[in-house]
Amino acid sequence: MTKVIPVVDSRVVSYLRLSVTDRCNLRCVYCMPESGIRIIPHREILTFDEIEGILDAVAGPLGLHGIRVTGGEPLVRGGIADLVRRLARLPGVEDLSMTTNALLLPRFAEALREAGLRRVNVSLDTLRPERYRRICRGGEPEQVFAGIEAAEAAGLEPVKINMVVIPGINDDEIEDMARLTIDRPRHVRFIEFMPVGNSDLQREKSYIPSAELRARIAARFGLEESPVAPLGRGPAHYWRIPGAVGTVGFISPLSQHFCASCNRIRLTADGWVRTCLLTDRIGVDVKTPYRAGVRGEGLVALFREAIRLKPPSHDLVPTGNGNGRYIRTMCQIGG
Ligand code: SAM
Repeated sequence: MTKVIPVVDSRVVSYLRLSVTDRCNLRCVYCMPESGIRIIPHREILTFDEIEGILDAVAGPLGLHGIRVTGGEPLVRGGIADLVRRLARLPGVEDLSMTTNALLLPRFAEALREAGLRRVNVSLDTLRPERYRRICRGGEPEQVFAGIEAAEAAGLEPVKINMVVIPGINDDEIEDMARLTIDRPRHVRFIEFMPVGNSDLQREKSYIPSAELRARIAARFGLEESPVAPLGRGPAHYWRIPGAVGTVGFISPLSQHFCASCNRIRLTADGWVRTCLLTDRIGVDVKTPYRAGVRGEGLVALFREAIRLKPPSHDLVPTGNGNGRYIRTMCQIGG
C-alpha cells in the first residue's frame, strides 16, 4: 500500500555523522558478511581536503553544532587525528565525537584528544570473549576495555557504550552490561537491532523493544529516570540504577521511533549526503559536484536539497510475528 506522508518539517538538522571509511578491522555479523563487503575504491573516497572543503562551506550556513566521526571503523583511516584537527576548526562545531569499536584507541586516544576530539561512543555487544569473537569475528572485550580506559585517561568523556541487542544472540547479557554503569561514569545504551547492513541475520532476527529491556533491567536493579543525560544530542532516553554513577540509555528506532525530532544527516565516505539510516535509497551526491568545482553557496544548496528530501519518518514496520521481517509502508517521500 502506498502511503504518502507530507513533509511538515520543523526539524532542525544540526548534527552530522561523517563516515570517513567503509573499511573495518572487524566483521560484525549484523553488519557485514564474513567475506567482507565490496570495498569502495580509494579514488571514490573523499580526501581530507575534500571533507574539510565541503564542511567548511556548509557548517556555518546549516548551523551544524555536532559532528560524529564514524565508519566503517574510523580509526583504520590513515591520519585520522589530522582529520579530527581540521574538523575541530570548523565554525560553530562544538561537539566533536567519534563512534568506534575501540580496538585501536590505546594507540590513538591521546592524539585524538589533543587534536580536538571531545568524546567517544564505543560499540560493545557482549562481555564474553568467546561470544565477542563470534559476533565480531575478531577481537576481545578486554581490548575494548583497554580502549575505553585509554579514552578515559585522555579525557575523551563521557564514554558511551553501545550494545546492539539481538534476540537469542546477546540479550541474556543486558543486566551484566547495565552493571557496568554502577561504579564508573560510563553510559551504556541499548539499541534495538535494525534491519540495516549486509547481513543474513536481518532476515532471521527481529528486535526486542526497549520497554521490555528496561523492564528486565528494572526488575534486577531498579531503575529511576536519570535527572541528567550525558553530553550529546542523541535520541536515547536515560535511566539510572539507584546510586549508580553512570546511566543506562535506550535507543528505540523501531518501537518508538524518534524521526520527528531527528536532527541528523550523514556524509558518506564516498561523498553522498544521506538523511535517514533506514531509508538509504535517498540521498544527494556532493562529491561529483565538488570535484567539478562547485563551492560555497552551491554546496549549501546541495545539502539543503538533501535535507528537503529527508523523510518525515522511516517506513519500516515489523510484521509483528518476531521473525525479523519488515514491510515498507511509504513509497513516496518528499514534498
Ligand atoms: N566501527 C565503528 C563501531 O563499531 O562503533 C563505527 C561504525 S558502526 C556501523 C556504528 C554503530 O552502528 C555501532 O554501534 C553498531 O553496533 C551499530 N549498528 C550496526 N548495525 C546495526 C544494526 N543492524 N542495528 C543497530 N545498530 C547497528
